[in-house]
Formats: sequence, structure tokens, C-alpha cells
Amino acid sequence: MSTIEDCLFCRIVAGEIPVTMVAETEHTVAFRDINPQADVHVLVVPRIHEPDIGSLATADPDVTIALLAEARRIADDEAGGQYRLVFNTGAEAGQTVFHAHAHVLGGDIHVPLPG
Ligand code: 5GP
Ligand code: ZN
Repeated sequence: MSTIEDCLFCRIVAGEIPVTMVAETEHTVAFRDINPQADVHVLVVPRIHEPDIGSLATADPDVTIALLAEARRIADDEAGGQYRLVFNTGAEAGQTVFHAHAHVLGGDIHVPLPG
């Protein structure tokens, strides 16, 4: 498993930084965003380190599919299956943590839709 020592989400996956945990699976860890932008705002991250979702899809399609399935399962649990999935990719697009992660947003969402 690839891990980067000073990566925040690798440290969360390793249990070194406390979070409000939602669910752990073989391939993913899901926890509540520290600065929620919606009634439901859960981050789903792969255990392996890849810098963004595109890199993850190339490196490990099975883990990518597991992450998408886990996002849906959490949205089913917490938001009646109605949800928005956001993958900020690159600093100019708002990515601040360079370990792939899905934002699962549900309920009242406080960020505007594009367009
Ligand atoms: P990005 O901006 O990279 O798409 O998303 C990173 C997210 O991680 C942000 O929404 C931010 O609030 C969240 N975040 C940053 N540091 C922590 C932390 O230490 N704990 C938790 N639970 N979330 C964090
Ligand atoms: Zn990482």
C-alpha cells in the first residue's frame, strides 16, 4: 500500500489524526468533513495514496469503483440516496488535500451548482 508520511488523509487512514468516522471498508475510509458545506458532508478516501481521482482511476480501477459504491451507500444511509459527488482536481479547481477523495454532499447543500 502506498502511503505518504506527510499526507493528511494518509495520516487519517492510518488512525493518526482523529476524525468523526462514518465507515471503513477494505478499500476506503469515510469521515465527516471538518468544515461541512451541506447537511451531509462526508469525505470518502481510498486507503491507497493517489493525488486525485483521475490518478486513482488509472492506478486502480477496482478501488475507484469501490469508492463510488461506498459514496452511494453512505448517501443511501444519510440522504435518501439524493446526493452530489464532488472531486476537486488541482489547486485552481479548489483541491486543497492532494489525496483522492469524494465529497458526498446531501440534504441542504450550501455550495452552488455550476452553470
Ligand atoms: P478539497 O478542498 O481538497 O476538495 O477537500 C478537502 C476537504 O478536507 C475540505 O473540505 C476540508 O474541510 C477537509 N479537511 C481538511 N482538513 C481536515 C481534517 O483534519 N479533518 C477533516 N475531517 N476534514 C478535513
Ligand atoms: Zn495520502
